[in-house]
Amino acid sequence: RLKQDLKSLHSFALELSKEFRRQSKTCLYQVLAAVQGVQLQNEAMQMFQIKAFDLEQSLQEVTERYEKEKQKRRALHNSLVELRGNIRVHCRIRPLLPFDNAVGHSISQDRQRNLTEKVAYAADDETVLVKCSRPGHASINKTFQFERVYNDSESQDAVFADVAPLLTSLLDGYNVCIMAYGQTGSGKTYTMLGPQVEGNFAFPTGDESELGIIPRATQEVFRLISEKPPGSYWVEVSVVEVYNNEIFDLLAKDSYGKVFSIKRDVVTTREGKSDVPLLTHETVENASEFLHIVKKGLQLRARHPTLVHAHSSRSHLVVTLTITTVVFGDNFGTSWEDEQTSQRLNKDVSSTFPLKTRDSLSASSSRTSSPVQFEATEKIKQVKTRLQLVDLAGSECVGMSGVTGAALRETSFINRSLSALADVLGAIAEQRSHIPYRNSKLTHLLQDSVGGDAKLLLMLCISPGQKYLTESMQSLGFGARARQVQKGQVRRRTFPVSSKAK
Ligand code: ADP
Ligand code: MG
Repeated sequence: RLKQDLKSLHSFALELSKEFRRQSKTCLYQVLAAVQGVQLQNEAMQMFQIKAFDLEQSLQEVTERYEKEKQKRRALHNSLVELRGNIRVHCRIRPLLPFDNAVGHSISQDRQRNLTEKVAYAADDETVLVKCSRPGHASINKTFQFERVYNDSESQDAVFADVAPLLTSLLDGYNVCIMAYGQTGSGKTYTMLGPQVEGNFAFPTGDESELGIIPRATQEVFRLISEKPPGSYWVEVSVVEVYNNEIFDLLAKDSYGKVFSIKRDVVTTREGKSDVPLLTHETVENASEFLHIVKKGLQLRARHPTLVHAHSSRSHLVVTLTITTVVFGDNFGTSWEDEQTSQRLNKDVSSTFPLKTRDSLSASSSRTSSPVQFEATEKIKQVKTRLQLVDLAGSECVGMSGVTGAALRETSFINRSLSALADVLGAIAEQRSHIPYRNSKLTHLLQDSVGGDAKLLLMLCISPGQKYLTESMQSLGFGARARQVQKGQVRRRTFPVSSKAK
C-alpha cells in the first residue's frame, strides 16, 4: 500500500512537473511575445520618430522653398508690372443714369431721344467702341484699345481687382499714382471715392461694396503692411486740392483744431523731388482713421455746380499716402524680400540720422506719438514711397458747361493744367530730356509718381450718352495718347538690355 501510494505520488509529481513545464513554456511564450511586441512597438516608435523627423525636414524645405518662391513671385510681379509699362490706361464706361435725360425743353422729343442714346460701349474688356450716326454729321465708328475696359455693369470690386497689384509694387518701393480723368458727371469721383449722398461721401457708414479706389487702396495698404514685421512701416496722409493753379492744404488746422484750407506751394528739393513745405501730414494707423481724416478734408473741396452735373468739382483732388519704411543701420536692405528691390532702394534712401530728429523732420505731423518706438540713439534709415490718388477736375470744354465769369476762369485753369498733364505724358513718351513738370502746379505736385520708375494708372471715365459724344472722344483721345507713353517705355526697356547682354 505504501508502495502504491509512492507510485501514485510519483506519477502525480511527474504530472505536476509536466504541467509546470507546460505552463512555464506558455509563460515563456507569452513573455517572448510581449518582448517581441515591445520590440515591435519600439521599432514602430523609431519609425515614427524617423518619419516625424523626415516630415519636419521636408516641412522646413517646403517653407524655405515657399519663401524662395514668394521672393521669385515678387520679383516676377514687379517685372510684370514693369513690362506692362509704367503708364497703363484703363477706361470705365458708366451706366446711363436718370440725370442723363435732363435735357432742355426747347428740344424736340426725337432729338431728346437721340441725345440720351448710348454711343460708347465696351466691345470687350480691352476695347471701347464709339458708334454714332446723326443726321447732318459724319457717322462715327471708332475703336480705342486700352489695358482694360470696364463696361457699365462692372462693379467697384472688379475695378479694384486690377488696381490692387500696383499696391504690392508700392510696398516694394515704387511710387504709384492712380488718377481719374473725364468730364464732370462721368464717374471720376464715384470710381475714386464711391457714391455721394447730398454731396457728401457715403463712407465709411455706407455700403462697403460701393467703396471706390481710395478707401479700398488704403485698406489694402494696411493689409499688406500687417504682413510685414511690426513697426517697420508707418503711414501718413495728406489731402490737397489744386484750384486755379494754387495748392490748398485741406488738412491744415487753425488754433482751435478746426480744419481749414490753406494755400501751400510746391517746390523741387535738392534731390530733384517735388515737395510741399509745411503740408499737413496726419499719421494714420488704420483705414477707418484714414477715411475719417479724408472725409473732413473733402468737405472743404471747392465746388461749383455746372449745368452738366450739380456736384461738379472744379478742382483736382490729390490724396497722398506716404509710406515710410524704417530700416536699422546695419541690416539695411534685409527687410525687402527681394534682392533687387533692396539694392534699388539702397540708392534711394532719403536720409540716415538718429531717430530723435524724426519729429523735427516731420514737424507738420499733427500727432506727437510715433507709431514706432526706438531707442533714441539707434541709427535708422528711412525710405519713403508715395501713393497719390487723384480725382481730376472735369475735363469738359467751356462751351459745354455754359459757364461764364469766375467759373470761366476756373475752367481755363482746369484746361491749362490738364493740357500740362498731357504735355508731361507726351514728353515722357518721346523720352525728352526735359519733362515740363513745372508748367502747372498739378504736374509739379505729381512729378515723382508720374515720371521715373513710378507707376501711373490713368482711369478714363466715360459717360455713354450721345449728348457727351464730343467730351467722350476727347477723353478717349487723351487716354490713347497717354498709352503711347507705355509703348515707348517698353521699347526703351527691352532694347538696351538685349544689346548689352552680348
Ligand atoms: P464726376 O466725379 O466725374 O463728376 P461722379 O462720380 O460724381 O462724376 O458721377 C456722377 C453720377 O453718376 C453720380 O451720381 C454717381 O453716383 C453716378 N455714377 C458714376 N459712375 C457710376 C457707376 N459706374 N455706376 C453707378 N453710378 C455711377
Ligand atoms: Mg467729381
